[in-house]
Amino acid sequence: MTGVAEVRVSASSLEHNLSQLRTLAPSGAQIAAVVKGNAYGHGLTEVVEVLDGKVHCFQVDDLDELRALRRVSSARVMVLGYVPVERFREALDLGAELALFDIEQLPALEAAGAALGKRPKVHLEVDSLLGRLGVMPGELGAFLECLKRHPDIEVVTAYAHFANIEDTTDLGHALAQVDAFSECFGAIRQAGWDGIGRHMSATSGLMTVEQVTSANDLIRLGIGLYGMYPSAALARRFAYLGLRPAMAWVSRLAQVKMLPAKHPVGYGLTYLTPFEMPVGIVPQGYSDGYDRHLSNSGEVLVHGVRCPVVGRVAMNMFAVDLSAAPNARAGDEVALLGAQGEDRITAEELAARIGTINYEVTVRVSPLLPRATR
Ligand SMILES: *Cc1c(COP(=O)(O)O)cnc(C)c1O
Repeated sequence: MTGVAEVRVSASSLEHNLSQLRTLAPSGAQIAAVVKGNAYGHGLTEVVEVLDGKVHCFQVDDLDELRALRRVSSARVMVLGYVPVERFREALDLGAELALFDIEQLPALEAAGAALGKRPKVHLEVDSLLGRLGVMPGELGAFLECLKRHPDIEVVTAYAHFANIEDTTDLGHALAQVDAFSECFGAIRQAGWDGIGRHMSATSGLMTVEQVTSANDLIRLGIGLYGMYPSAALARRFAYLGLRPAMAWVSRLAQVKMLPAKHPVGYGLTYLTPFEMPVGIVPQGYSDGYDRHLSNSGEVLVHGVRCPVVGRVAMNMFAVDLSAAPNARAGDEVALLGAQGEDRITAEELAARIGTINYEVTVRVSPLLPRATR
């Protein structure tokens, strides 16, 4: 590492996770690798370069992510978030397969396709008891009538998204969603789109619903690919998969020094050294994605042992108590996330300390930090 910090992505872990998760998928099911949010903070282009050719397609949220992805890959990409109609031409030009959820999109899609001499490919999203993007089941009939008047638009799949698997072990709502979606899917086929694919599951759906129904042709894999589990309950149940966290976030000690007893540390004087204490300054902060709630709470690894964060996390630096690593010197490596020696700081551990979920911990690691694939 030549800089102040870097994010390391393990290619072998991503590949291992993909092959482990494939064992849960219905045979023949396709995999979409979800790389929105800078690939959950891991680095969009780095992750795409590792997985290109190993998955059926990629999934991003918006056109800017697609544009970034196109720097390294010409793979199929579903853009499943919001794309303003004024940007449909740009979207088709970039080879986007867009989410379709509103009648207003149809004329704009057709016009963009005609302008480019391309057939727009879309994925029809049904709002099956989620309450987010998607066509409401009650409006699907009228929607399909309208869609029939735009034969140049190619519907590739119809899909829905689960609302309540991560937060519960009760699959009641998820199964009601499957029923509601299946009914809609039947209506879509009846209306003439009988060869299209269907999908509902993200990682948590793959681990639960797909194990009891197998109607879907594609799985949209996010969190599991990165070696994390969607919930603690699923982490226990599927521990045997041995998913491997793919991200390590490392920095180095900018300064190491002894502070005398009763010396304040950082803004707000929230920590006073109880005795003379070796302290290391880590040149990362909340601007880099190291949450300010880790003040006086987080731990990092130095020389393979845990060193507690002391004082406030500032925008660009924080201090750690080096009592457990007395031989640490300026320039030594610090693990903020990931393994060092025998120990590991997990996203789940940081999430628990700051009251959020593992997804948010990794996705907020600054995209400005250099990424290195190992
Ligand atoms: C983010 C997302 C996924 C991936 O979810 P994971 O829980 O990370 O596997 C799949 N589908 C949609 C629509 C999403 O927004």
